[in-house]
Amino acid sequence: MHFENTLTFAQQLDSKDKLSHFKDQFHLLKKGGKHIVYLCGNSLGLQPKNAKAAIDQELKDWAELGVEGHFDGKNPWMYYHHFLTEKAAKIVGAKPSEVVIMNNLTSNLHLMMVSFYRPTKTRYKIMMEVSAFPSDMYAMETQARFHGLNPEDAIIELKPRDGEFTLRTEDIISKINDHKDDLAIVMMGGVNYYTGQAFDMQAITKATHQVGAIAGFDLAHAAGNLHLKLHDWDVDFAVWCTYKYLNSGPGGTSGVFVNERHGNNPELVRFAGWWGHDEDSRFQMKKGFIPMKGAAGWQLSNAQIFPMAIHKASLELFDEAGIENLRAKSETLTSYLEFVLNEINSKFSIQNSAFKIITPKNIADRGCQLSIIVKENGKKLFDYLNENNIMPDWREPDVIRMSPVPMYNSFEDIYRVGEVMKEYFKN
Ligand SMILES: *Cc1c(COP(=O)(O)O)cnc(C)c1O
Repeated sequence: MHFENTLTFAQQLDSKDKLSHFKDQFHLLKKGGKHIVYLCGNSLGLQPKNAKAAIDQELKDWAELGVEGHFDGKNPWMYYHHFLTEKAAKIVGAKPSEVVIMNNLTSNLHLMMVSFYRPTKTRYKIMMEVSAFPSDMYAMETQARFHGLNPEDAIIELKPRDGEFTLRTEDIISKINDHKDDLAIVMMGGVNYYTGQAFDMQAITKATHQVGAIAGFDLAHAAGNLHLKLHDWDVDFAVWCTYKYLNSGPGGTSGVFVNERHGNNPELVRFAGWWGHDEDSRFQMKKGFIPMKGAAGWQLSNAQIFPMAIHKASLELFDEAGIENLRAKSETLTSYLEFVLNEINSKFSIQNSAFKIITPKNIADRGCQLSIIVKENGKKLFDYLNENNIMPDWREPDVIRMSPVPMYNSFEDIYRVGEVMKEYFKN
C-alpha cells in the first residue's frame, strides 16, 4: 500500500476504516482535556465502556440473591465459564470444547505443563526462545526442577544468529531436528513480548510432532492480536492472558486451549479440582475424579465472576468486530506506523539513523507491535513522547514498544506519533 505522512492522508484512512467506531466503546485516555495516543495495548488494554455494566449486573445479583445467584442470576454463576468459551474459541481458532477461561496465565501454564511435560530418562528437554518473558522462564526452570532435572541441562534456548534480533523459522526447525531424540516439549511465545516477532506456530508444531514431542504456546501477546488457528495448526495446548490485547482488566482472567485429541482423553494426568469434575455429578461430593470432556476438565475452582464478567463484555466487542477484520486493519495500521517511523528516521534524525526497528519487516512475522532500539538516550525519547501525549512503553534494557491496536487506535494517532518524533529530533 502507498502511504503518505500527512494529516489528510491519515484522516482519509480513518474515514475508510469500517472499525473506526469501536474506539467510542472505550475509555480513551486524556490529559488536560487532550487526547493521549495510547500504544500500550500490549501491556494493559484500555477499558471497554461495557465493562462497568457487566460488573454492576453481578454485584446486583449478589446483593439481591446471595447464594441463589449461582442458579437464578441473570448469568447463573454456576455455568459462567460456558458463557465465554464460544467467543474466546473464535479468537484463537478453536472448537468451543477446546477452550476454557479460568485462573491466571502463569498458573495455567503450570497446569498445562503438569499434563504435557512428562519427561523420561531420554526424552526430557524443553525448548523455548531465549529472553522469553520472565514468568515463562521461571515456570520452565521450576518445572524442570520439579522433575528432579537441572534446568541448565533440560532447557534449550533458541537464540538469534549473531547480529540478528529475531529467530529464523528454519533455525528453529533445524534445532528441533537436532534434538529429535531428547526433545519432550517446545513451549514458546506466539509473539515475543520484546521484539514483537510472531512465530510460525503451524510450522513449529509440525516439526515438533515429527520428532514425537509436544507443542505448546504462550499466547499472551498473540491472543486478540493475530488471527490464530490453533485447531487447524494442530497445536497441543496454549495459554493466554486477557488483560493485554483482550482488554479485560488488570490481573484479568486467562484462557486455555487443549487440543480435543488430549481433551477427550480422561487418562491424561492432571492436577484436578471440583470444577473440572463431570458437571452432572459434581454436587454428589463423591470420591473419584471424573474429568469433564475438553479443556473444561482442567478447571480447578468455581468461576471468578468479576474478572470473567469483564472478559465476557470485552469478548462481545471482539465478536462484533471479527478477529479477521481486526487483524486486517492491524496490518495496515502497523505498516503505517513503520512507514512514518522510517521516514522520520531517514529525514530528521541524527545521521539519519537514530533508531532501529527490530521487529520483523514481513507482516506475517509480526503482530501490531513495533519495537525500536534507540542508539543513544532511548529513555529520553521515551520521556519526551510521554510529555507530549504519546504513550508507548519502555522495556529494559533499551527498547521502546509501540503497539497500535485496531480496536481503539486510529491512523491519525500514528500521524501524531510521527509529528512528536519529528519535533524531538529537530530540537
Ligand atoms: C504478560 C505475560 C505474562 C504474565 O503472566 P501473568 O501470570 O498474567 O502475570 C506471562 N508470560 C508472557 C509471555 C507474557 O507476555
